[in-house]
Amino acid sequence: MDISLVIPLLNEEESLPELSAWIEKVMDENNYSYEIIYVDDGSTDNSWCVIEQLRLKNPNIKGIKFQRNYGKSAGLNEGFRAAQGDVIITMDADLQDSPDEIPELRRMIVEDGYDLVSGWKKKRYDNKLTKNLPSKLFNAAARQMSKIKLHDFNCGLKSYSKKVVKSVEVYGEMHRYVPVLAKWSGFRKIGEKVVEHRARKYGVSKFGWTRFINGFLDLMTIFFMGKFGKRPMHFFGSWGSVFFLSGFGFSVYFILSKIILNTPLTNNPGFYMAMTAVIIGIQLFLAGFIGELVSRNATGRNFYLVEKKAGV
Ligand code: UDP
Ligand code: MG
Repeated sequence: MDISLVIPLLNEEESLPELSAWIEKVMDENNYSYEIIYVDDGSTDNSWCVIEQLRLKNPNIKGIKFQRNYGKSAGLNEGFRAAQGDVIITMDADLQDSPDEIPELRRMIVEDGYDLVSGWKKKRYDNKLTKNLPSKLFNAAARQMSKIKLHDFNCGLKSYSKKVVKSVEVYGEMHRYVPVLAKWSGFRKIGEKVVEHRARKYGVSKFGWTRFINGFLDLMTIFFMGKFGKRPMHFFGSWGSVFFLSGFGFSVYFILSKIILNTPLTNNPGFYMAMTAVIIGIQLFLAGFIGELVSRNATGRNFYLVEKKAGV
């Protein structure tokens, strides 16, 4: 199978027939063998009925329906597990992404050898202030932290080679940072393509202002996981040691000067600061230790992606 389209959706009943027809047209024109995997993320409208109806007419249309709303990342993850195509393309269901981009997105994977190609909505048709500015900031921060040169991490339209999709796990709200997850798994050839972005035709955006808070927290997670996820003690332990040792050193100094020179201890702010540093140091050290214990038990602790083998 040439292409699997993975399309997470929440309450997009109006868009689905139009989107399906457009995709079918592009696929037929290019003679691709394909499947469309709609992941209904707990819609409360008629989306699932619409998907079943569409499937009657076109058996390439498949569907997964969640019991409740789990979020876009969960949708992508399930779609990735189910996808069978050699190239997997994700897009939003709201007709903001154009299926006309599919052939080029596929070509870049198949012919140019990219592991992942991310769309770049260079010209956006969203509300300027509430989306464009924060999104610029996020992208700048994500670029800085991940060292991946992408302008638009969060673009729903992306293409992947099969091996990428089968080795990343999209959890929490990490759909914003799939390229980073891919890079962690060792896929370095990450490309970008300017894509057409369109105004939402039906319905409303499913992400409110909380997207900024969640997006920021996930960025922090990405940063810490990438740097210290497998070795929390290196982060907490080193800061813990700095606090503990400096605090301990100063405490000893103050106590000795009390004993030898009889300088007052109880109204010396330096002594309290030193004691506080000792406590903070112990706390940080313990956090690192607990982190180590947790990461020892993590399911992914010994999961390594073997690219090739010879004679084994
Ligand atoms: N979506 C989803 N689950 C959610 C929220 C959104 O599957 O909990 C889908 C939504 O139906 C759409 C895509 O994710 O297909 C992008 O969402 P939306 O268009 O609301 O985001 P925006 O374009 O405003 O960033
Ligand atoms: Mg949208």
